[in-house]
Amino acid sequence: MAKTKVISLEGAVKTDAGLTYKGVVMEPIVEKCEGCERVAAVEGDNYCPTYAQPERKWAHGVCNFATHVRAEVDKTGKVKVNPLKASKRAARGR
Ligand code: SF4
Repeated sequence: MAKTKVISLEGAVKTDAGLTYKGVVMEPIVEKCEGCERVAAVEGDNYCPTYAQPERKWAHGVCNFATHVRAEVDKTGKVKVNPLKASKRAARGR
């Protein structure tokens, strides 16, 4: 697969409703997003350019856009979250 394209939130505007990007209100990332390469910082807060509501993304299980973890279904049918080798990536940009 092609290398993950990092998307920026260029042009995003902070409004009373929150950060808006192309007319969509962006919600801040959730704890589980920490380490994901897609996280984009805008004026001190972190947002996900891929998904406007990261919390909802994770409510359905593992975010399928995440670059730092991957969901795997084990033999019992339980979903396991496996961290990817992301220590280097996590260190970058901090
Ligand atoms: S892609 Fe998924 S894990 Fe990454 S920041 Fe967005 S919502 Fe969070």
